[in-house]
Amino acid sequence: MSAPGLSAATDDVRLPTGDSNVSFVLHGIDDVRYEDRPVPTESSDNDAIVAPKKVTLCGSDVHYYKEGRVGDFIVEKPMVLGHETAALVVKVGRNVTNIKPGDRVALEPGESCRMCPDCKAGHYQRCPKMKFAATPPFDGTLAHYYTLPADLCYKLPDNMTLEEGALLEPMSVGVHAVHKIGQMKLAANVVVFGAGPVGLLTAAVAKGLGARKVVIVDIQEPRLQFAKENNLVHDYYLPSKPNEGEAREDYPRRNAKEIRERFEFEERGPNAVDLIVDCSGAEVCIQTAIYLLGHGGTMVQVGHGKPNITLDYQTVVTHELTIKGSFRYGPGAYRLSMDLVARGAVNLKALISHRYTFRDAVKAFEANHKGVGQDGKPLIKAVIDGPEADEKL
Ligand SMILES: [Zn+2]
Ligand SMILES: [Zn+2]
Repeated sequence: MSAPGLSAATDDVRLPTGDSNVSFVLHGIDDVRYEDRPVPTESSDNDAIVAPKKVTLCGSDVHYYKEGRVGDFIVEKPMVLGHETAALVVKVGRNVTNIKPGDRVALEPGESCRMCPDCKAGHYQRCPKMKFAATPPFDGTLAHYYTLPADLCYKLPDNMTLEEGALLEPMSVGVHAVHKIGQMKLAANVVVFGAGPVGLLTAAVAKGLGARKVVIVDIQEPRLQFAKENNLVHDYYLPSKPNEGEAREDYPRRNAKEIRERFEFEERGPNAVDLIVDCSGAEVCIQTAIYLLGHGGTMVQVGHGKPNITLDYQTVVTHELTIKGSFRYGPGAYRLSMDLVARGAVNLKALISHRYTFRDAVKAFEANHKGVGQDGKPLIKAVIDGPEADEKL
């Protein structure tokens, strides 16, 4: 089932020796250090102590490293980075039955309070007390050990690698947007704006869940070609540039018309665009989406952009469009992601473009920031190995 070099059998499955908890810690902008943090010894009854083995980098990790903040989340004290993680289970509390030491698991890195109205209503992603890995002030997973509630550990099927396990985190963002928030229907026509990792994964999820046609839109052609070549989408679109002297409000309308013509999308009926997911956060993409959506269609916003944008609300009204926000992921997202990968409906393997050891972690952050690996090749996703089993400061 697995591609050469990526099979489960080649993953490092040695457990740590237990006397060191070397961690990759952000102290300030461009200031990361290796520190030996206390080794967790006893877990509480429902927790698991795990050893992270593969951590893929996310835009947010890089923003904290380069800017010290993401929106209102500001790094005010040293924080371990990393949150997209697959790990080996080291120790479990006495109530834990879903995993056991030695198991390979994907980590869902957000612990909600389980008590508030949103948690109780099944929307734990909205929990105001969420403790999310590598979101200040909570430590992330680039460390020898990490402790979390055991129900946030998902045992990987034998045909999935630890690298694929780490990618379930960003993939779950796509599952939440397409399935839970977007309520994608069978045989839907779907357009995804933005071909960064989350956009690519969102498009792949829509295709894997049975969309009729999935088109991805971006201004970087190599990323679009990557999506097509790796079967993550049915097709892609590279928008034309604004014409000289073209009014700002005219361009999105023309852009939408050109996309519609190119793919023979209609304004209504089975050939209309049913669902658009914006993973770019760019104002012009959101404006275009409003004109591109079929009447009665749904637009889901995943990408973060500037807080205030101009929208043609008249079209929203007369076309009866629905606009919804989607944040991280909630109940069931990891399970569905894992299932889609395990049965081959979504292929994650191609997304890992660059690999780094724990000692080279800073190189991964720099490459991710530039969007290009040290080999000169475009970076899609970088993965960092956890510390070696016996690695110390
Ligand atoms: Zn992420
Ligand atoms: Zn809560």
